[in-house]
Amino acid sequence: MELIGQTTGELEQIVREMGHPAYRGRQLAEWIYKRAARSTEEMINLPEALRAQIRERFTHPLTNAVEALRSDDGAVKYLVELCDGNRVESVYLPYEDRTSVCISTEVGCAMNCAFCATGIGGLTRNLSAGEMVDQVLLAQADQKQRISHVVYMGMGEPLANYTQTVKSLRLLTGELGISARHLTLSTVGLAPAIRQLADEGLPITLAVSIHAPDDALRAQIMPIARTHSMDELLDACRYWIEKTHRKITFEYLLLENVNDSPEQARDLARRLKSLLANVNIIPYNFVEGRGDFHRPKRQRIDAFKRELEQQQINVTERMRRGNTINAACGQLRHESEKGRKISA
Ligand code: SF4
Repeated sequence: MELIGQTTGELEQIVREMGHPAYRGRQLAEWIYKRAARSTEEMINLPEALRAQIRERFTHPLTNAVEALRSDDGAVKYLVELCDGNRVESVYLPYEDRTSVCISTEVGCAMNCAFCATGIGGLTRNLSAGEMVDQVLLAQADQKQRISHVVYMGMGEPLANYTQTVKSLRLLTGELGISARHLTLSTVGLAPAIRQLADEGLPITLAVSIHAPDDALRAQIMPIARTHSMDELLDACRYWIEKTHRKITFEYLLLENVNDSPEQARDLARRLKSLLANVNIIPYNFVEGRGDFHRPKRQRIDAFKRELEQQQINVTERMRRGNTINAACGQLRHESEKGRKISA
């Protein structure tokens, strides 16, 4: 049974059932979520009898970093092993004013986006809420620093694992005390789940991967677009904005000669204008084994941005972090899998 992933109330109930007073559950929650204790040995204010019961009944922790690639700019990419031997990735990103962790929500991914390393192997399994939260705790313990921001942008589609993702969001805001506004969830655009999330009362930041200005091109690079059209997706986005009063960031992966022309920028602006959208441009990073995509030249990137700005769209470009480690999602695990196969 998993210890991380239980709310404070659930931990109180668990310790009561083991014959201890409820306040021990609150102390346990403090050790797990606030102090990121990786073993019961650290939980020195809990009686040894309770610690022994926990060791016997629970798996703790749920993740273990088998590799940590440290970049010159302070970013750290963790190859995280789960208790069943499956592996996912998370990335720690330090900034001047905040510390952020990008986490995975699934082992692999069923969405099969044409440009993504994670999609290569398909979906193996969903992560539990505890496994998601533990990626944050693992980074916190390794960095000896409180994490202020969490981004759901690692391996997997968070809204395809809806229940566990929402539980993890509630644990991060509740048990870890991270502001909902400091949590960003990125989705390929599962329109019905965006509507459901809007009704959860969680004022998080939503990022939608749009990557194309029309259905035909979108469907070529993102199979999910064959199920949910852009009209359906943008209607769900409108619903999100109405319900949460939060703007949406549209992520746009810029692929040379695929979706990077000034005409496409104009079409995109036309589709997004009424949403007061922010568009975050992400120039492509090469992914081995994923089609023949290339990063556009700087001139072309700037022209695309300029065109959007002229159409009154707010544009940002994702800062390139972790240059000396494999930067795109799923790459480290992909490399590791190849290594495993070679040595097997
Ligand atoms: S980009 Fe995201 S949703 Fe698409 S295959 Fe990769 S992990 Fe899955």
